[in-house]
Amino acid sequence: MAARRIGLQGGTFDPVHLGHMKAAAEVRRRFRLDKVLLIPSAVPPHKESGGTAPAEHRLRMVKLACRGRAGLEASSLEIEAGGTSYSVLTLEAVRRRHRGAVLFFLLGIDAFQDIRTWRESRRVLEQCHFVVTSRPGYDLGQARRALGSVSAARFVDLEPGGPAVGRLPRAPAIFLLPIPALNISSTDIRRRARRGGSLAGLVPGPVANYIHRHRLYEGGQ
Ligand code: ATP
Ligand code: MG
Repeated sequence: MAARRIGLQGGTFDPVHLGHMKAAAEVRRRFRLDKVLLIPSAVPPHKESGGTAPAEHRLRMVKLACRGRAGLEASSLEIEAGGTSYSVLTLEAVRRRHRGAVLFFLLGIDAFQDIRTWRESRRVLEQCHFVVTSRPGYDLGQARRALGSVSAARFVDLEPGGPAVGRLPRAPAIFLLPIPALNISSTDIRRRARRGGSLAGLVPGPVANYIHRHRLYEGGQ
């Protein structure tokens, strides 16, 4: 039996939106992943924690967003661990839970650009495949520059909308995957929610209801 393939998508998810869901679904299709874990961070290391919605709300919204979407699953791993979330530790935890699985780390080019600031970034990059997706306003080509001269050979360019990737390289690769751009960000959603604007088409319906019901983002940033 082929090894299970599992994707990890980290983020603040403050709140989760359709850009996240679409990227996760497309990567799942292209790499035939058994599932993608969406893992909200406890205290985001690269963001000011002050204005972030409480972890339980962010996790519950991810759970609502995953409901009815095959192969997408919310994970409380980082929130349960508490403290600052580091990808290097998250990867190790997922590997322990899913022994023998092939792991794929999913992230947008905006997040990948900062990868050298991550704790033990070299080690993280050597531990699993990476799939870097495009994002409006960012150039996917910047991914190579983000790593400098390190591991240029590991980059694999993929065509947008292509077929599933068959054979995987033995060594961990960094796949660059252009995806249909969804110009959505949590920052914009928080801004809209604060003004009482509609979130239709930006977040799944149940997430919009949740934001309104709990009056998230109304007072803050
Ligand atoms: P914020 O505006 O608060 O930074 P965000 O929309 O960027 O929120 P994050 O939680 O920071 O969302 O992102 C988590 C992951 O999802 C990152 O890897 C990011 O690149 C990716 N991502 C976010 N929005 C999109 C989108 N519209 N399309 C594809 N990937 C996205
Ligand atoms: Mg972001």
